[in-house]
Amino acid sequence: MEMQFKPLFGEKLSRPFLIAGPCSAETEDQVMNIAHALKDSQVDVFRAGIWKPRTRPNSFEGVGVEGLAWLRRVKEETGMKVCTEVANKQHVYEALKYGVDVLWIGARTTVNPFSVQEIADAIEGVDIPVMVKNPINPDLALWMGAIERLYKAGLHRIAAIHRGFSFFGESKYRNVPRWQIPIDLMRRFPDLPIICDNSHICGRRDILSEVAQQAFDLNFDGLMTEVHNDPDQAWSDAKQQITPATYLNEVKDLVLREVGSSSPVYNENIDQLREQIDGLDHELLELLGKRMGVVEEIGKYKKRNNISILQPARWSDILDKSVKDGEKQGLSAEFIAKLFKAVHQESIAHQMEIMKQVEKEASMK
Ligand code: PEP
Ligand code: MN
Repeated sequence: MEMQFKPLFGEKLSRPFLIAGPCSAETEDQVMNIAHALKDSQVDVFRAGIWKPRTRPNSFEGVGVEGLAWLRRVKEETGMKVCTEVANKQHVYEALKYGVDVLWIGARTTVNPFSVQEIADAIEGVDIPVMVKNPINPDLALWMGAIERLYKAGLHRIAAIHRGFSFFGESKYRNVPRWQIPIDLMRRFPDLPIICDNSHICGRRDILSEVAQQAFDLNFDGLMTEVHNDPDQAWSDAKQQITPATYLNEVKDLVLREVGSSSPVYNENIDQLREQIDGLDHELLELLGKRMGVVEEIGKYKKRNNISILQPARWSDILDKSVKDGEKQGLSAEFIAKLFKAVHQESIAHQMEIMKQVEKEASMK
C-alpha cells in the first residue's frame, strides 16, 4: 500500500520531537504540577494516560473522563499540546469532545485488528494526529497493519512509537528493544516519524538516557518519556518515572544525529568507505554462492550413497569451529551462531531440493 504521511503538526516535525508527562493522570494537582514544570521546555506534547490498560485487575485503571478536563486545563494554562491513549471508540469520542490534540494506540490494542479498526472507524473524517505503538509481540506486520488501517480511514498524520517487546526470561529491559523491528519499519515507511518510548522499554530509571541516545543514533525522530512530580509514589509504573527536573537534564545531554551532511569532505570519505563495504559484500555473496555449489555436490553424493542430509556431529563441529574462528576476527559468538545457523538452514533447503529431484528421476524409471 503506497502511503504518504503528513507531519503531525505544521510543515515539518520538530526534531527531537518530545512527548513527556505522567504514565497516568492521577489528580488534577499532580497533572498541573507536572505540566507547569515542563511548560517552558522543549517538550512538544504533554502525555497522560486517562484509561490505563493494566495487566492484572485491581490495579489503578485510570481516572477516566474526569481527567480529560485536566488535560484541557494543561492546554489552556501552558500552551502545550496534549495526548492520551485510546483503546475503543468511546475513548475516541470522549477525547475528541475534550479537544485532545493527539491520540495514541497502546501496545495491547495494536495487537488486535478488531480494536484498531473500531478506533479507525471512530476517527474517520476527523483530521487528528495518531501515534501507533508497536504491538507487545515482535510482529512487524501487525504494527504495519494498524498504521495501514488508520491511513485507509483517511488519517495521514501518523507516527509510530517503539516501546519494546514482551519476552520470556531475564533481561535488563522491561520490554526488549529488538531494534531491527523499528529499523525494518523505517525501511518500509521511510517518511513515517518514529518516536522511542524509552520508559516502557527500560522499566527503570538508570538506563533511560542510554536507550534514548541509542534511538537517536538510529535516527529516531523523538522520545516519549514518563515524567512524574513524585515518581516513587506514582499510581502506575513508579519504577520507570523520573521528575521533570531529571528529565530536562537528561534530554539536554542527548545528541541528535543527522541522516546526512552537506560537507564535501565527509561525503567523499564516507563514499570511499561505502565502496569498500560494497566490494566486500559482493565478495561475501560470491563466496556464499561458491559454498552452496559445494553443498549441492555433497547433496548429490549423499543421495547416491543413501546418506541423510543432516549430520548432527558434523554440524556441531562446524558451529564450534566457526564460533572460535569468528571470535578471533572480533565477531561475537552470538552473531556467528546466528549467521551459521542461517547458512546451514539454506544448505539443508538446497539439499532437500536435490533429494526431491533425484527421487523424481528415480521414480520415473
Ligand atoms: C503507557 O504509555 O502508559 C502504556 C500503557 O504503554 P504501552 O501501551 O506501551 O504498554
Ligand atoms: Mn506507563
